[in-house]
Amino acid sequence: MSTSSIDFGQGRTWGGVSQQEYQRMARDPRHPLAYRIHFAALGWADRQGHASFGPGKLAALLGKEGMPLSDQSTNNALARARQLALVSPRSGAACLLLPYHLFQKRKGAPVPCRLHLDR
Ligand SMILES: [Zn+2]
Repeated sequence: MSTSSIDFGQGRTWGGVSQQEYQRMARDPRHPLAYRIHFAALGWADRQGHASFGPGKLAALLGKEGMPLSDQSTNNALARARQLALVSPRSGAACLLLPYHLFQKRKGAPVPCRLHLDR
């Protein structure tokens, strides 16, 4: 994990994605909420796979027409995303986490998050 290059393991192919495009897709209300959470995780992940959000930020992102998603709907969507392994089981509204076998990045500093204080 401390190597300087991306490595998903022998024979596992990979390609880069535009995080900016995933940020845009995360805001698109036409997608199911659980997938928008996955898109947000990809869009904002730092080099340790953490996508950190300030209070209310994820709900605001998932809302539509300027209205934030309710806490209950946000939590339901998060539960569904965890259930489908679209994000790590340790994910919450404060931080969406992608497992190392799914996401790696070699640029930028890790961003502190409110949820995973132990990393
Ligand atoms: Zn985190």
